[in-house]
Amino acid sequence: APLDRSSRFYVAGHRGLVGSAIWRRLQAEGFEDLVGRSSAELDLKDRDAVFAFFAEQKPRYVVLAAAKVGGILANSTYPVDFLSDNLRIQGNVLDAALEHGVDRLLFLGSSCIYPKFAPQPIVEDSLLTGHLEPTNDAYAIAKIAGIMQIQAVRRQYGLPWISAMPTNLYGPGDNFSPTGSHVLPALIRRYDEAVRSGATSVVNWGTGTPRREFLHVDDMAEASLHLLEHYDGPAQVNVGTGTDVTIEEISQTIARVVGYEGETVWDTSKPDGTPQKLLDVSKLRDAGWTSRIGLEDGLRSTVEWYREHTGNVR
Ligand code: GDP
Repeated sequence: APLDRSSRFYVAGHRGLVGSAIWRRLQAEGFEDLVGRSSAELDLKDRDAVFAFFAEQKPRYVVLAAAKVGGILANSTYPVDFLSDNLRIQGNVLDAALEHGVDRLLFLGSSCIYPKFAPQPIVEDSLLTGHLEPTNDAYAIAKIAGIMQIQAVRRQYGLPWISAMPTNLYGPGDNFSPTGSHVLPALIRRYDEAVRSGATSVVNWGTGTPRREFLHVDDMAEASLHLLEHYDGPAQVNVGTGTDVTIEEISQTIARVVGYEGETVWDTSKPDGTPQKLLDVSKLRDAGWTSRIGLEDGLRSTVEWYREHTGNVR
C-alpha cells in the first residue's frame, strides 16, 4: 500500500551511501516530513539516546540504513566492531521503533549473509543453509540477527516490517578510503590517482577472479521505496541486477572509464573473499521492480562525482 507523503519518515543513516540516496529519492517522491540525524547528533549505539529520539520525533515510517560497514580488509581486521556496533545500532533502532509502534519499517542488510558456497544465483531460501565467508562472518551474523528481529516482530506483533538485502552497492557518497572501502570506490580512486600521477602500474588485491554483482545506489533507493509500498512478507528480499562480473573485468572497465592505460598486477597475499556473490532477484521482480542503471553508465557518473569531490571524500 502507498505510504502517506505527509507522515514523518526517519531515515537512519541518512548521511551514508544508501541512506543519502534514499533521502534524495524520498524528497523527489514528495515526502514532506523527513527526519535524519548525523552520528554526531545521535549516536545509534546509545540506547537511551535512541529511545529519547523516537519519543520526541515519533516517526511513522523508518528505513534502517545505518550500519558500520566496510570492505573485505576492514571486515576481516575489525570483526568485533562489525558485530558489536551493528547489533547495538539495529537492536536500539528496532526496539525503539517497536515501542513507538512504527507503522512500516525497512531493515537493510547485505548479500554477505548467505553461505560462502551458496548455489548461484543465490535465492533468499539459502539463508542459514551453510557456513559463512570468514572475511565477513561477524558482520553477516549481526545482519542475520536483524532479519530475525524483523521476522520476530512480524510474528509477535503483526507489524508489516520488512527487510531487503542489497548486493554490492556503489555510487555518489561512497567511502573512498583506500583501506576501509569496498572494491569499486577503491579501484576508482586507485586508477584515478594513477592517471594523475602518471603511474604505469597499479596493484589490486587478490587474484581478480572472484565474481561480484554491483548495483547503483540510486537503483537501491528506488527499490527500497518500492518494497515498502509493494512488498509485505517475512522473507528478506534480494536487491540486485541479476548480473555479475569478475573483479578483473570491473578493473578493466574502471581503468578505461578513468583513462588509465598502464598495467594492472594482482597482490595475491590479499584475500579474495567469497568466489561468487550473485543474487537471484526473482522475488524482487515478482514484487514489480527491476534495476535500470547499467554498470558502465553508473561507473561514469560515480567517477565524475568522485572527481568533483576529491579531497572532500570520506
Ligand atoms: P566483498 O564483496 O565482501 O568481498 O568486499 P569488497 O568489495 O571489499 O571486495 C570484493 C573483491 O574485490 C575481493 O575479491 C577483493 O579482494 C577485491 N579487491 C581488489 N582490489 C581491492 C581493493 O583495493 N579494495 C577492496 N576492498 N577490494 C579489492
